[in-house]
Amino acid sequence: ADTKDDRRVAVIGLGRFGGSLAIELTRLGCEVLGIDVNPKRVQRFADELTHAAVADSTDSEALVQLDVPAFGRAVVGIGSDIEASILTTSLLSEFGVQHIWAKAVSRQHGRILERVGAQRVVLPEYDMGERVAHLVTGRILDYIEFEDDYALVKTTPPAEALGRQLGETRLRKRYGVTVVGIKRPGAGFTYATPDSVVQDGDVVVVAGRRDDVERFAEIV
Ligand code: ADP
Repeated sequence: ADTKDDRRVAVIGLGRFGGSLAIELTRLGCEVLGIDVNPKRVQRFADELTHAAVADSTDSEALVQLDVPAFGRAVVGIGSDIEASILTTSLLSEFGVQHIWAKAVSRQHGRILERVGAQRVVLPEYDMGERVAHLVTGRILDYIEFEDDYALVKTTPPAEALGRQLGETRLRKRYGVTVVGIKRPGAGFTYATPDSVVQDGDVVVVAGRRDDVERFAEIV
């Protein structure tokens, strides 16, 4: 349910990860409370966030003073100080904050964060490493993987798909992928339909199981 609290997000730890996350949330229209123990970090973000406060997030009293228990969502962006990251996450869980996201620096750290109450754990460097691997291999221009092995890929179409209606190419049957969008050079994306024709120089967005879209992006 989209309650009022869902638009209020506490971001704890305004490092590189928490800082850019907090700014993007503000841009998306959320009311963001940024918290960091380092006054310089807070100062850096004071103008860009709804609220910014200096506090040690392992101090339960300090979080209560800032009304953190009333937030529907919180993100723990503390990474290098693993102890502070775990303590903060468990405090948020005790407060009953409904959606807790936390950044982990390793898989073990991530498992502990889940145990102390984080619903979602993000491993920015591992995840980015995997994502970039898909980009450096060649034809894949952008890649998003969802947790259930499902991926959305931006790629150049294989030669066999050129100049024919998508419906005729039977890509779904043969590769298990669905062409979702087509981008012609100099134009925006359009939704693909069975009678869309892909031309040389186009870029396509393809959805499907990870293995299937990878296989599709490898064919020439
Ligand atoms: P990044 O790699 O995203 O920069 P860091 O782990 O280096 O992440 O930075 C996390 C931020 O969290 C830093 O700005 C640091 O001051 C802050 N931080 C660390 N411990 C606490 C704490 N106990 N309370 C609040 N903020 C903290």
